[in-house]
Amino acid sequence: MSGYIGIIGGGIAGLMGGAHLLNSGYHVTVFEKEATVGLHATGRNAGSFSLHYGPEEVCRLAAESRGTLERPFWMPSGTKGYLRQRGKIFLARKGQSAAISRLQEKTKSDGLKLVTLHPEEALKALSPLPLRLLPGDQFLFDSDHFDIDVPRMVGDLEQFIQRHPKGSLITGLEIGRIESIQDKWHLFEVQNHDSEVFDIIVNAAGAWADRIANIGHIPPIGLKNLGRTAAWLDFEHGFSEQSTNVPMVHEVEDRFFARPFQNRWFLSPSDAVEGRIEDALPDLSALEAGLESFQSWFPGLELANLTPFVGIRSFTRNNRPEISQNTLKTTYFTLSALGGYGIKMAPRAAEILVEKINSSKI
Ligand SMILES: Cc1cc2nc3c(=O)[nH]c(=O)nc-3n(C[C@H](O)[C@H](O)[C@H](O)COP(=O)(O)OP(=O)(O)OC[C@H]3O[C@@H](n4cnc5c(N)ncnc54)[C@H](O)[C@@H]3O)c2cc1C
Repeated sequence: MSGYIGIIGGGIAGLMGGAHLLNSGYHVTVFEKEATVGLHATGRNAGSFSLHYGPEEVCRLAAESRGTLERPFWMPSGTKGYLRQRGKIFLARKGQSAAISRLQEKTKSDGLKLVTLHPEEALKALSPLPLRLLPGDQFLFDSDHFDIDVPRMVGDLEQFIQRHPKGSLITGLEIGRIESIQDKWHLFEVQNHDSEVFDIIVNAAGAWADRIANIGHIPPIGLKNLGRTAAWLDFEHGFSEQSTNVPMVHEVEDRFFARPFQNRWFLSPSDAVEGRIEDALPDLSALEAGLESFQSWFPGLELANLTPFVGIRSFTRNNRPEISQNTLKTTYFTLSALGGYGIKMAPRAAEILVEKINSSKI
């Protein structure tokens, strides 16, 4: 394939899209406004791969991404893939049976099976976490739950694009103006009059995708950008290091989910705050409530450090990922609105983008 493609955004969407387009023979330049790639949603997520979390379409795209996550074409064959089995345990107290039933029904309809654990089995599986058992507790185990090594994958994709003879990755460059002149796209840096010229552009700007559409004179998607608070937790007495193999724990009514993450713990309460991207701050009261619920299950853990942050999950109004070609400006494509699932379904989403570009016969 020939053709020069400019991708705006160096998150997982832009990097994965870029690698797939290079693999299909295009020339690709990825632009990222920050000094490093993968800093925004791509650097602030739980890095989990599950086949039953999210809408049906998302779960299908994740299932279809699994092969590439396990055997990435951008790495030499034999290189370790990015999935590592962790498993997840849902926790429910007495009185939460309805939530347990709902979860069981959903996973059954997805063709998945959750295993009921006896409290003693849960204690063992969660060791060394100091699980506090109460009468009536219920535990469901999902073995089909994996960690995605997001930092390594992002680093590998970045290198693949940089080293590819047809690839280029430019960081610290914010696209501030987009002009369509005689079948070519001109991308301008903010406050710069020089432009780079492309046959095709891909809007992979995450939470900024509507802004990019606006400056490109394309109707915006109407993104719903929802902030989700999370925190890095460090525990005293080397507990974080001792607990690296513990399954993810997920309170059945979504009060929190938490997992070990590279010698720390990642914890997120279930919150979703809509607002301007620039003003997004962690919701400390939601975090406190999530942490309180976590500590009611695992009392006695001494927290050495807590680093709250917020990540933005971007959705379309119908919660479907946006992988599209503009109908009027047919050389303008979008790969955005990946919601809370953009990592696990990134390979298949990128393949669909390539299929759309290939079939557009531009
Ligand atoms: C708390 C949390 C937990 C999550 N957990 C999971 C999970 O377990 N599993 C999973 O699969 N997904 C998860 N997600 C979702 C996942 O992180 C996102 O769907 C994914 O990272 C979106 O990637 P992106 O490339 O679209 O966006 P981003 O990573 O935000 O990338 C967009 C990039 O575009 C750049 N950009 C914007 N405007 C410009 C411009 N004008 N010029 C140049 N560059 C520009 C930005 O700087 C940014 O780097 C989670 C998200 C959050 C917030």
